[in-house]
Amino acid sequence: MKILILAFLSICGLRAAEPANAPAEAHAGRLLEAPGVKAEFLIKPDRRVVLTFLDAAGKSVARGERIVVVKVDGKDLALEAKPEGFVSKYSIPTKEPVPIVIMVLATADSKPANFRLTLNTAICLACKRYEFACTCDH
Ligand SMILES: [Zn+2]
Repeated sequence: MKILILAFLSICGLRAAEPANAPAEAHAGRLLEAPGVKAEFLIKPDRRVVLTFLDAAGKSVARGERIVVVKVDGKDLALEAKPEGFVSKYSIPTKEPVPIVIMVLATADSKPANFRLTLNTAICLACKRYEFACTCDH
C-alpha cells in the first residue's frame, strides 16, 4: 500500500511540471456510493470533516435517521448532526497519510456501509482536487 501511494505521488510530481492552466474546480470531496447510500465526504481547509447525503442527481438531501461513524487513524471522530449530514466537532489531526473509515447506517440497527480512504489533503495537480478525492487514474 505504501508503495502504491508513493507511485501515485511520483506521478503527481511529474504532472507538476505541466503548466497549471485549468482553473481550480471547487475542492470537491470524495463521493461515497453503496447500495442505498450516496454522500459526499469533504475535509474543509480548517480540517473539519463534512459529510453530506445526496440524492441520485447529486443534490443534498435530508439526513433522516441515518447514522455515521468516522474513524480517523483508528480513533472515533466526534460528529454533530446537521439537517443534511454531519460535521465533525473538531479538526482532524494534521498527521498524513492516515486511514479513514466511514460507516453509514440507514438506521440505528441496520447493517453499515463501510468506506475506506487514505487521508491526504495534498492538492492533485492534475485534477485540482484533494488527493483523497482525486478522480485521476493515477
Ligand atoms: Zn487527480
